[in-house]
Amino acid sequence: MTDATDVTRPDPRRRVALLHTGGTVGMVRGDDGAYAPRPGALAQALARLPELQDPRLPDVRLEELDTLLDSSDVRPVDWQRFADRVAAAFHDGAHGVVVLHGTDTMAYTASALAFLLDGLPGPVVLTGSQVPLVELRSDARDNLITSLLLAAAPDWAEVAVYLGGGLLRGCRTTKVSTHGFDAFASPNLPPLADVGVDVAWRRELLRPPAREALRVHRLADVDVVALRLFPGITAETLRNVLRDPVRGLVLETYGSGNAPSRDPELLAVLRDAVGRGLVVVNVTQCLRGSVRMGTYAAGRALADAGVVSGGDLTAEAALAKLLVLLSQGLAPSAVAAAMGRDLAGERTPEPA
Ligand code: ASP
Repeated sequence: MTDATDVTRPDPRRRVALLHTGGTVGMVRGDDGAYAPRPGALAQALARLPELQDPRLPDVRLEELDTLLDSSDVRPVDWQRFADRVAAAFHDGAHGVVVLHGTDTMAYTASALAFLLDGLPGPVVLTGSQVPLVELRSDARDNLITSLLLAAAPDWAEVAVYLGGGLLRGCRTTKVSTHGFDAFASPNLPPLADVGVDVAWRRELLRPPAREALRVHRLADVDVVALRLFPGITAETLRNVLRDPVRGLVLETYGSGNAPSRDPELLAVLRDAVGRGLVVVNVTQCLRGSVRMGTYAAGRALADAGVVSGGDLTAEAALAKLLVLLSQGLAPSAVAAAMGRDLAGERTPEPA
């Protein structure tokens, strides 16, 4: 029997849906010299790719979505569209799904898909490239072929990001390079697999296929905001940000979750927002580590104002999680409690 996760010996009977949503990978240069998505360009380039004719590949079915986007244009309504297409692919018999997507907001989409897709039967691998597939020298070929093989591997079922050598849990990722082929990091969780000559899986990290049926949560028209604290931020600025109809705030704080504590008005604005039913989540601006609001008085003041800890959530995952939870019509206290729980492998449980 084939090693359940040996992607170097792929099984051509496995079926992988390849969903093209846009991004550099399928872009071509326009008359102005700037890259932009063009319908049909990726399919044409793929048809010329010898690797894709190789009989050892899984059975790949390409679907180009209606509106191809630079991922800077992706909005929550698109997350829903992508989630529905992924679910449809599994219902149609795919064993895994590869989503081609721009890298700019890939970490947000990967996080959103992880929370929207409940009960995944197989893997969903988001990939793209820093250089388009049509260019002579491009990272797209390896990213695409490796992602197809990873998505065809059995016995794992979660949303992941693959770019330039590391298979990362999607809801742990953040884009860290504008130009490196290894554009993503997963600062608080090791890669699910190191991909080099061999594919070295960290099996203990992999999330298994769900027993229950796949269901897709619905996003509602809810306003959430992310705000990065900066020295000199005023209560007035914060008050303006938190006006109706905003229902949730991801507050990107300093260090282990600290904010200015000598500005009573600023803290009062936060306390008032929580009193009005907003959910305010504290994540750190640091790449590595976790929010601990009890460490400093400057952090404790936030906890006293009703701000909830995002632990080691990335800002991207916190925003997507908050939006998905608020869309479910739960009471703010229930959303706040769920923000503190690990739902999709996005946060490390706090020590008891
Ligand atoms: N602007 C592009 C996008 O995110 C960049 C990329 O794909 O790498 O769609």
